[in-house]
Amino acid sequence: MTRVFDEDLVPGFGTRAIHAGQRPDPLAGAIMTPVYLTSTYVQEGLGQNKGYEYARGKNPTREAFERNVAALENGRHGFAFASGMGCLDSIMKLFRAGDHVICAENVYGGTFRLFDKILQHFGLSFSFVDTRDPQRVADAVTPKTRAILAETPSNPLMRLTDIAAVADIAHRAGALLIVDNTFASPYFQRPLELGADIVYHSTTKYLNGHSDMIGGCAVVRDDGLAERLQFIHNAAGAVAGPFDAWLALRGTKTLHLRMRQHDANGREIAKWLVDRVGHENVYYIGLPTHPQHELARRQMTGFGGMISVELGTRERAAHVLGRVRVFALAESLGGVESLISQPAGMTHASVPPDRRAALGLSDGLVRLSCGVEDVGDLLADLDQAFEGIPGEARREPTPSARSRDTKQPAGT
Ligand SMILES: *Cc1c(COP(=O)(O)O)cnc(C)c1O
Repeated sequence: MTRVFDEDLVPGFGTRAIHAGQRPDPLAGAIMTPVYLTSTYVQEGLGQNKGYEYARGKNPTREAFERNVAALENGRHGFAFASGMGCLDSIMKLFRAGDHVICAENVYGGTFRLFDKILQHFGLSFSFVDTRDPQRVADAVTPKTRAILAETPSNPLMRLTDIAAVADIAHRAGALLIVDNTFASPYFQRPLELGADIVYHSTTKYLNGHSDMIGGCAVVRDDGLAERLQFIHNAAGAVAGPFDAWLALRGTKTLHLRMRQHDANGREIAKWLVDRVGHENVYYIGLPTHPQHELARRQMTGFGGMISVELGTRERAAHVLGRVRVFALAESLGGVESLISQPAGMTHASVPPDRRAALGLSDGLVRLSCGVEDVGDLLADLDQAFEGIPGEARREPTPSARSRDTKQPAGT
């Protein structure tokens, strides 16, 4: 009997992460999905094939990855792309000149750049709105609004959008809600379950998790929408290559394990940062002092490893960035290794300075992607990197920090 894993029958996230979309290879029974490095498929006769004709349209390695991510997002159809941006660009091809799109004002810099510098010239119009307040989203709706795009938590300011509330606004307007779920991953947040129509990822980040490929993936439930995306996927052709799909498929097998550790490390490091610079300067959705912490608890099941911290000046940011030894100074996020960056000069350099200032994305803002190393080593690294930071009147540790310190065994 051929063992066929039926993702619809298995509720456990970890089991789905390891098995969904995959079956033993029919030739030899290989448990791992082969990398189908092929451009075309031999046809048995004119008009007769095994469902595969040309590899832009379909590739078995890519299909396994797409089914896997679709199962993790609790959707029905997945589409893997060559990058997160390629994915979003293809999603936007669902729309046409004259259509209006409401976009969260704090999004990944490349998302803003794609809309502002490219798609605008094709007749799409965009309103950039503070989507933390659903009323502002409702107020921005026009008769031409066809989509609302939210990134939650947002990069790098950790702002949240109430997915269920904004899905409602979108649907009343006859528009689609598109959610960039890159920061949370489906382990902590599943936007389709909250009413979103399209969820997408830069799979470069947490889904792959090992910083060794670039990719994107979109997931939907609706069959009609899937058919339109499938058409664009093949017709526009920004598809994921089989090797990248294979790497990312290997990555998702440990997504649940990695996310738990990212989350545990994120919480510890956020606490350390609060003691060091004050809670008002630490943007972490897991902190009870985060203004949207309640919403985070409502629509997510964990908080992850992304933290931003306001250090006040570029000089102070440069001090820390120049001294870290375990954290690596680099763009990107979501890998097993910890990274640190200055969004204003790196990931968000494409956002004009006045816009950055209006958002609160300052030159002193530093973003940490907490990896899954031993948290004691990460804390020690930050401790030595903050040493001698210019202009610091070192804060007295708060009583809670002091009692925590004494309770911690050495080496944690
Ligand atoms: C990195 C990133 C993207 C872009 O994805 P690429 O794979 O780099 O093209 C989009 N959204 C978010 C939130 C990201 O972090």
